[in-house]
Amino acid sequence: MTHHRVVVVGSGFSGLGMAIRLLKDGERDFVLLERAGEIGGTWRDNTYPGCRCDVPSHLYSFSFAPNPNWSSTFSPQPEILDYLRDVARRFGVMPHVRFHTELEAAEWDESAGRWRLDTSQGSMTAEVLVSGQGPLSEPRLPDVPGLDGFEGTTFHSASWDHAHDLTGERVAVVGTGASAIQFVPEIQPRVEQLHVFQRTPPWVVPHPNRPMTRFERALYSRLPLAQLAMRAGIYWARESFVLQFRHRRVRRLATKLALRQLGAQVPDPELRRRLTPRYEIGCKRILPTDEWYPAVTKPNVEVIDQALAEVRPHSVVAADGTEREVDTIIFGTGFHVTDIPFADTVCGRDGRTLAEVWDGSPEAYKGAAVAGFPNLFLLVGPNTGLGHNSIVFMIESQVDYVGDALASMRRRGARRVEVRAEAQAAYNAEVQRLTRGTVWVSGGCASYYIDRNGRNSSLWPTFTWPFRRRTREFDEGAYALGAPAAA
Ligand SMILES: Cc1cc2nc3c(=O)[nH]c(=O)nc-3n(C[C@H](O)[C@H](O)[C@H](O)COP(=O)(O)OP(=O)(O)OC[C@H]3O[C@@H](n4cnc5c(N)ncnc54)[C@H](O)[C@@H]3O)c2cc1C
Repeated sequence: MTHHRVVVVGSGFSGLGMAIRLLKDGERDFVLLERAGEIGGTWRDNTYPGCRCDVPSHLYSFSFAPNPNWSSTFSPQPEILDYLRDVARRFGVMPHVRFHTELEAAEWDESAGRWRLDTSQGSMTAEVLVSGQGPLSEPRLPDVPGLDGFEGTTFHSASWDHAHDLTGERVAVVGTGASAIQFVPEIQPRVEQLHVFQRTPPWVVPHPNRPMTRFERALYSRLPLAQLAMRAGIYWARESFVLQFRHRRVRRLATKLALRQLGAQVPDPELRRRLTPRYEIGCKRILPTDEWYPAVTKPNVEVIDQALAEVRPHSVVAADGTEREVDTIIFGTGFHVTDIPFADTVCGRDGRTLAEVWDGSPEAYKGAAVAGFPNLFLLVGPNTGLGHNSIVFMIESQVDYVGDALASMRRRGARRVEVRAEAQAAYNAEVQRLTRGTVWVSGGCASYYIDRNGRNSSLWPTFTWPFRRRTREFDEGAYALGAPAAA
């Protein structure tokens, strides 16, 4: 059985960021477990047409590895994947990655003071387990009767079937979230007929994307400080978006902007009515695109403002009982967010899994540590998601926090660290207090931000700089360091 001081799960922004920090600290006894055969996480899996980030690339990248060569201000998926590959190679991460190695179960062994890990390639043990398994890495399929009996092609946007040619086909798209609004405009010109199932219309705002000029690229190559200054400007501009989540008056401006685009791009009043959200802007993720409305107004597109209720061998049936014959069904139905399967596989010191302890409402201390789960750190854990800014900022904050925790353990000769339940409870009480009054809970929508118990367990509810401040240093006082397990 192999043993490592640190085992990191995942090789997306989180896993790579953690690995780079470990290397910087001189740690060599660690591995990154990656169930796929490539690094990149989200940006390896989501290859659907039109996939790009919706946070500016200058900010949606590591602060310590700026890329002067982005082709546009919001880069397409292949460029982000290339960027991650380049970063992994340049910072020496690759020799530590174990591909095709899925973590299947993790159990804390209190007497040995280590994690026992079952992977698809055998067992191993670890002193510290860091999960970077991703907030949006487990595609969610709707539980629709008849799906197994469909005789055409089906796939999820996160595992796009590029071998399948959609040209001239009748296609059903289920969902109108962040992925669907990117791929629908790309496939609409190719297909014969497109039926889009929309349960809730998204709020859509104009997309500020534009090609990066040659001047900008030359400037950023020669003067990296200029790119850092641009990054800082974008960061602070996006921080101001928090105000709209908290104040209705500020939301009016964004609402006006969105409705103006809808009015200009959708002349048909009936279709416009169906595409107009009936909840407040910001309650769900606001989607930037100039192409969604023009695509759904094309004669070969039908927006069905119903849920998909049933699938038959050659057709799809809407909740109102109407049926459409289709050749292919594409699911743009998002991911398991507050019910990540990973939580079912990690067993803490009292023998319960994370999922059992959380009981539908994930919570952690600083999104990273959970009482009862010693030597476990989560990256992009509960309440670290954002509606307004780059998650990479949160990842870097957490990576530094975990790096500091490991340094503290080393300094103190402690082989065990566990957050105190009372610190976790106080922290989460504050997170929930900060959530009160925000549009996510008062805006009149159901979203993946809110868990099945009606609690915000996904989003960090305020500006991100206070999160950075809180994670700047490992706060030993909130933890039992090297202490024996509580009875
Ligand atoms: C289409 C799309 C667009 C997005 N755009 C943005 C954006 O513009 N801005 C933004 O802030 N966020 C965006 N996000 C959110 C995005 O998920 C995060 O920004 C970020 O990529 C998360 O990185 P991560 O490393 O935490 O997780 P991921 O990138 O999901 O990586 C997790 C890795 O863990 C691996 N893994 C999972 N479970 C196991 C296991 N049990 N064993 C071994 N390996 C495992 C996976 O294979 C994967 O490689 C987007 C998400 C999607 C799906």
